[in-house]
Amino acid sequence: MADIVVIFDFDKTIIDCDSDNWVVDDLGATDLFNQLLPTMPWNTLMDTMMKELHSQGKTIEDIAEALKKAPLHPKIISAIKAAHALGCDLRIVSDANLFFIETILKHHGLTDYFSEINTNPSFVDEVGRLRIFPHREFTTCSPSCGDMCPPNMCKGVVLERIKASVLAGGRKRVIYLGDGKGDFCPSTKLREQDYVMPRKDYPVWEVICSNPSLIKAEIHEWSNADDLERILLHLINSIIFGLRTSSLLSSDCKYQTIPIISAQEPLTPRLAAPRIAC
Ligand SMILES: [Mg+2]
Ligand SMILES: [Zn+2]
Repeated sequence: MADIVVIFDFDKTIIDCDSDNWVVDDLGATDLFNQLLPTMPWNTLMDTMMKELHSQGKTIEDIAEALKKAPLHPKIISAIKAAHALGCDLRIVSDANLFFIETILKHHGLTDYFSEINTNPSFVDEVGRLRIFPHREFTTCSPSCGDMCPPNMCKGVVLERIKASVLAGGRKRVIYLGDGKGDFCPSTKLREQDYVMPRKDYPVWEVICSNPSLIKAEIHEWSNADDLERILLHLINSIIFGLRTSSLLSSDCKYQTIPIISAQEPLTPRLAAPRIAC
């Protein structure tokens, strides 16, 4: 076994869309979704949307059929299988929900490649309605998150737990892949020997580009499924064979000036100079 844990975000990382929006759009409920969006947290809204769809006569099978059509690039599938074959421990950290993720993984024959799925719990109730709950009790953001994490899930907390298990299990390196704002908090918890793969031109990449000093891990951006497969397997092989790598971010990164850490942020910038050139 390689001493590597690979942690994937799900929406817009494993699949090339947001599964929540995908289901809502496919089942024709986009207008209602947009109408309710300003009135409640996203996690509560998805549970409410499932209630609405159920009352409109949409079944759990209709939802599953929609999920099976979500785009998942063959290169992502081959990357997951190759990383697993190289002995990596693959996990998912996602703000979608368990039913959506398991339905999609099963459809593509990927269920057994992941040792753990950290996401919002969900189940089908006695009347056939999908219920979706928060991963954690709604809380105000932990001070270390700034305003990056939604109230129902801090991926940074999940990352800290995985890090503890990585150390306990003798595994040494973490590679984290993601695209969204919520992927920044866990990225700041990675160590110098770890790697973060932000999706270029997506929110987490923009935030990292604006705050490189908050990231200790080596940064390797990716744009599409081909990139993801090539870069991920390169990093895994480099770790296995003890080769040196260095952060790779495109030069346009330096033009990003989006302030993201809230004013009261207590994050302490590293003393060392940033390890990237953006
Ligand atoms: Mg995502
Ligand atoms: Zn957080």
